[in-house]
Amino acid sequence: DVAVLRIGHRPERDQRVTTHVGLAARALGARGMYLAADDHGVIASIEDVASRWGGDFFVENDVKWRRCIQDWKAAGGKVAHLTMYGLRMTDVIDEIRGEERVLVVVGAEKVPGDIYGLSDYNVSVTTQPHSEISSLALFLDHLFEGKELNREYPDAKIRIEPTKVGKKTVEQ
Ligand code: SAM
Repeated sequence: DVAVLRIGHRPERDQRVTTHVGLAARALGARGMYLAADDHGVIASIEDVASRWGGDFFVENDVKWRRCIQDWKAAGGKVAHLTMYGLRMTDVIDEIRGEERVLVVVGAEKVPGDIYGLSDYNVSVTTQPHSEISSLALFLDHLFEGKELNREYPDAKIRIEPTKVGKKTVEQ
């Protein structure tokens, strides 16, 4: 069971990136996303995609990040915070794969210092600065070893029939 906690979202400037964090999380095998901010617009657009394209992805608006982490840990889960300052993903991913429940924390601009100590793993995806979307995507891909790439999404209203040329969708 893998979920994402998005912290530091600023409604006036992060809507697109946070929406893409949610869509990437869903498409790459996470169960849901907790948003540590109040932004119904972001929640609505992810839910809209999830309801049309199937699966059981959840989004939760306006969680308190500290409480979310505490609850996750109290239920026996582990916390992996993605940060360029952490240990190399390639050195820790096998150990994290052995955990039953993983909460993946991604930030926006600067994350609160407490997150580093509260996390079980601080994980760096390359030791270069880039983005929450790219780091999350690579982390999930390595965690699931590529198996998430061909997942089925039950109860989809629409799905893609892959084709060499053109666009083919099937609606049900
Ligand atoms: N400068 C900020 C800091 O010191 O925390 C990071 C800003 S970055 C645009 C936003 C988020 O992307 C970070 O909070 C982290 O979750 C993720 N991120 C960026 N580069 C990363 C890397 N190399 N490895 C893991 N996560 C990364």
